[in-house]
Amino acid sequence: MRLDVVSLAPEAFAPLLGLGVIGRAFGAGIAELHTHNPRDYATDKYRKVDDEPYGGGAGMVLKPEPVYAAFGAIPVLPRRRVLLMSPQGQPLLQADLRRWATDYDQLVFLCGHYEGFDERIRPLADEEVSIGDFVLTGGELPAATIINGVVRLLPGTVGTAASLDEESHSTLLLEHPHYTRPAAFQGMEVPAVLRSGDHGAIARWRADQQQQRTQERRPDLYARWEQAPGSEPHAAQDR
Ligand code: SAM
Repeated sequence: MRLDVVSLAPEAFAPLLGLGVIGRAFGAGIAELHTHNPRDYATDKYRKVDDEPYGGGAGMVLKPEPVYAAFGAIPVLPRRRVLLMSPQGQPLLQADLRRWATDYDQLVFLCGHYEGFDERIRPLADEEVSIGDFVLTGGELPAATIINGVVRLLPGTVGTAASLDEESHSTLLLEHPHYTRPAAFQGMEVPAVLRSGDHGAIARWRADQQQQRTQERRPDLYARWEQAPGSEPHAAQDR
């Protein structure tokens, strides 16, 4: 998959390339990352990328011309999706990561800065995405978060596909607890059933734990699971 990032801080993406399985996926050519700095496309002698808001008010606004120029220089693959990072966007869900990893060969990320984008930048995007109801200084961490989540789902990045299917948010139930050696640690014991070798009992215990955890931690998800246990975690109609 080709990933293009339009950002005033392209150095923010370098850590992704050295980040464990994600870094190895880039090394193996499963994904490739290209950054495009609007400042390189600014035409005035100060390479200005921001300006004061019309109508007054606090903060500076990202100008449209350098962003359009940087965006216009990006090659276009047939199956491409353009994502604009914004706290005003649709909240990011695992189902979105799955959709982008499956349906597209190229993702383009538009990262805002300052007070935000000039409104005329928005039409470049197919979707506006928020990573949560809070505000960061720029779109780099949101874009890096999405890149991590998408690349992780690409075939070949994570060893076993099953480990992706059984996790929290791949179904409506959260995942069950995990334990490894030692069997006892600081007075905390691994549940006996997990050491019993009885695979049926282990599967039942895990299923019970999934329900219990979800009910305690995410009653919203649990209520949806009770209504439709087999349904997708976040079908499009729920958005
Ligand atoms: N003034 C804007 C508003 O109230 O909607 C917020 C601008 S924010 C300081 C600067 C940039 O950071 C945004 O344009 C966006 O690209 C990015 N950003 C901040 N919080 C974000 C979030 N929760 N999700 C996605 N992007 C975010």
